[in-house]
Amino acid sequence: MKKLFIDIGGTHLRSEVCSDSEIIKESVSSNDTGLLFYIDQQMKLHPTIDFIGISYAGQVDKGVIISAPNINIDEYEITSEVKQRYGIALEIDNDLNCALRAEAAYWKSSNIAALYIGTGIGAAVIDQGILIKGNANMAFEIGHIPYRETPLVCGCGRNNCVELYASGSGMAKWLRHYGSRLEPVLSQLKIGSDRNERLIVSEFEEALLHAAGVLVTLANPEILVLGGGVIEQNPYLATLLREKLRHYALSPALQGLRIEISVLENAPLMGAKLLERHHG
Ligand SMILES: [Zn+2]
Repeated sequence: MKKLFIDIGGTHLRSEVCSDSEIIKESVSSNDTGLLFYIDQQMKLHPTIDFIGISYAGQVDKGVIISAPNINIDEYEITSEVKQRYGIALEIDNDLNCALRAEAAYWKSSNIAALYIGTGIGAAVIDQGILIKGNANMAFEIGHIPYRETPLVCGCGRNNCVELYASGSGMAKWLRHYGSRLEPVLSQLKIGSDRNERLIVSEFEEALLHAAGVLVTLANPEILVLGGGVIEQNPYLATLLREKLRHYALSPALQGLRIEISVLENAPLMGAKLLERHHG
């Protein structure tokens, strides 16, 4: 028997078909590949697949895809459709929840929060070993807490989200607003000659401290693990948080807190593999 694990984001769909003897890895563009279409292809190639685990860069709840800002959705009722077509189980969760499952296993922690910063900024929390989901699997959507009014529009439609400052997409929006041609790369903006470009960096840092302070104050984790492309390229952000977070969080919530950078190569895909444990 084989198992299919998928990590689908705005750019790539990465998959692994695992059997006892081998792992077949694949990466394709997610722009022109619908998820159900991809599963159909894999089921033809590997008819003995008996479980599918998916990490999804969008909102999912109880096996149903609700929305995804950057993914072409070819089937919302993905779990029931796959069950109907192939009679096999499929488990799907959002990418941050999947990543945090993998982080919790790696750090061997049952009180852990993840803060990932890439195109957006997202968080997930495991408390006493239980992943906090909320009523519609929307808990700890830290990117969209109200922060400061801006002349910009967030992906959610509002103009005051913390994601408009502390994310790759936020930086890109500010650069366009100021008429800058630079890429939203912190290290380049930091040394720029333009005052507005340097302002984007200091406001990014301030907003990140605010978001992390809210997360730690509300969730009181033992470990705050940082990940995502912006963190990978700017590990100094972990030092910034270690040095300054005390000014942004309730101090008892910081007692014993460790701030770590993720060392996992693909935490969401690793987390998709852990979904099998929850199935049944
Ligand atoms: Zn928003």
